[in-house]
Amino acid sequence: MSSTSQKISYMSSPRYTEVLVRNIENLGGAKYMFLTHKDDVADHDKWSKHFGCDRILHSGDVEESTVDIEMKLCGDGPWSIGAEFELIHTPGHTEGSVCLYYKPQKVLFTGDHFAKSGDSKFTIFAHYNKDSVEMQLDSVRKLMDLDLKWILPGHGRSIQFRDNQEKNSALEDFLARN
Ligand SMILES: [Zn+2]
Repeated sequence: MSSTSQKISYMSSPRYTEVLVRNIENLGGAKYMFLTHKDDVADHDKWSKHFGCDRILHSGDVEESTVDIEMKLCGDGPWSIGAEFELIHTPGHTEGSVCLYYKPQKVLFTGDHFAKSGDSKFTIFAHYNKDSVEMQLDSVRKLMDLDLKWILPGHGRSIQFRDNQEKNSALEDFLARN
């Protein structure tokens, strides 16, 4: 996930390890560290210190351990980072859940807004929700407006669509079932 002008790492803050550090360095480092939401972000501080990257998290998900984060998103967005990245507020799993849309490749990184499990195209982990399922379904509806070829959930495999129409029918099916 990099281009010449923008370097962004998409992480739910993985564990800080030298191997991963070296791999990211070989890709040119990281200018931003985008956190989709507040879960599993334990090592965000180490990553940020090492790369000198600005961390991004929605203010609705800021807690004591993330109070020093450089960029706190407020309101409903969307927010742009350069011309290639857009951040979409998708509350439900948590109040401050945000998806990252990488426009050139029509990819959406969803964190825990979506999951892929079993044979279903995708699902949500409603029993882990910290906000309302109703709200999360509204957030799913928002994704109708995005031209997507890939959805990369925080859990489970990536989901590929032939085109945007196939993505929208999958979303409609999902909404009809929920
Ligand atoms: Zn989560």
